[in-house]
Amino acid sequence: MQISEEYKQAHGMTPEKIADTMLDFYARVDSACEGVEKSLTAHGHALKCKAGCCQCCIDGLSVTKAEAAVIEKLFPAFRSLEPHAPGACPFLDDHGLCRIYAARPYICRTHGLPMRWIDESSQTEERDICFVNDHIDILSLEPSLCWTSQTAEIQLSILNIATFGDSERIPMRSFWEI
Ligand code: SF4
Ligand code: SF4
Repeated sequence: MQISEEYKQAHGMTPEKIADTMLDFYARVDSACEGVEKSLTAHGHALKCKAGCCQCCIDGLSVTKAEAAVIEKLFPAFRSLEPHAPGACPFLDDHGLCRIYAARPYICRTHGLPMRWIDESSQTEERDICFVNDHIDILSLEPSLCWTSQTAEIQLSILNIATFGDSERIPMRSFWEI
């Protein structure tokens, strides 16, 4: 089944409405991420993230149907692109740049930030950061200097469940097969 056919069946939502709702969500995520990044810089913890640095663009990433709707809307001809060879995200180009940057999924918008989350089984706080940014001592950071991943992810799940009835994830590499 084409993803777009499933959109049409999703509780009366059109692909355009789903994508617009997601773009609002992304705008809020981008604004919040920018705020954390500026605060990190102000505290002497500037990130090394820059265009062309792409070790975070790994193969095997997946997206929800609502995130896929944004890619379909902003890059309707993306299937004509040759997917990057296995070993990196299929949307990465040969210069280390994202070919769907404006429609990149939620997880890609948070790349590079120190992450914090509560482990469900131990109920303890966990933290992590990209190895390129490991000059930052993440354990010493105030929580406000980290991205608390679960808050936005819950919102993303709710948005998908409300629209599609699930928050199933689709491997990005499989987009060329459906
Ligand atoms: S969608 Fe773009 S930013 Fe996200 S992993 Fe793929 S190439 Fe990188
Ligand atoms: S998250 Fe890591 S690999 Fe990705 S742009 Fe930032 S420093 Fe580079």
